[in-house]
Amino acid sequence: MARRKKIYEGKAKILYEGPEPGTIVQYFKDDATAFNAQKHDVIEGKGVLNNLLSEFFMTGLGNVGVPTHFIKRMNMREQMVRACEIVPLEIIVRNYAAGSLAKRLGLDEGGQLPRPIVEYCLKDDALGDPLVSEEHIAAFGWASQQDMDDILSLALRVNDFLSGVLFGVGIRLADFKIEVGRVYDGDFQRLILADEISPDSCRLWDIETGQKLDKDVFRRDLGSLTDAYTEVARRLGVLPRGGATPMAKPTLIN
Ligand code: UDP
Repeated sequence: MARRKKIYEGKAKILYEGPEPGTIVQYFKDDATAFNAQKHDVIEGKGVLNNLLSEFFMTGLGNVGVPTHFIKRMNMREQMVRACEIVPLEIIVRNYAAGSLAKRLGLDEGGQLPRPIVEYCLKDDALGDPLVSEEHIAAFGWASQQDMDDILSLALRVNDFLSGVLFGVGIRLADFKIEVGRVYDGDFQRLILADEISPDSCRLWDIETGQKLDKDVFRRDLGSLTDAYTEVARRLGVLPRGGATPMAKPTLIN
């Protein structure tokens, strides 16, 4: 088989040219990074779990009419997605105080916010993805006013869907990050949900116990990240038979 062309390698995923024009293959790595990649580890099975979970959420969102880049899962680590032009913003939706918001505003982590709050960060690793306002976005032309209206309604629809699905399995969606991309249909351009939705980019808390089931387990050394992600996948019914870790190597029988 001809080698596929690598388009981009990020912290948690590799993008390859897809099998058809206008498609891309997303390969989910086992690498975990935090604090702008200052902390790094390889966590066996994480890529498989995120591939399955992102498929689950993107498919569900597609079913309720939210446009996404997801086309199909190809194997345990790869999915085919629609190529799009990524808007250089990280869109964060928050339902409960946590992480950088709690720090910035001096809030206790865990408190419910008066209403969902949407924030924007510029996608720029070298700058540490700084928080930006709609004024910055308009002035520097990162997105148009129409894009921003679409992004806000998309983000809130994603929030409602994910919050509901997760609440159904006893998980609170504290916050999450999404990315969107532009696709062109003839003369029209529209925005679709891109990247991934997984416990790498969400804060997920068990409703009963408050136990963290997301990347904070890695960021804050709270135990096994694979166990946490496996628990989310198990509750949502997306665990592969035999679990997410590759089978043990065959042993020689004399
Ligand atoms: N997030 C993300 N990628 C980033 C920054 C944030 O996926 O580069 C997610 C993070 O996992 C959390 C939400 O966005 O679910 C809000 O993150 P926050 O701003 O609190 O940042 P952090 O605590 O990671 O500094």
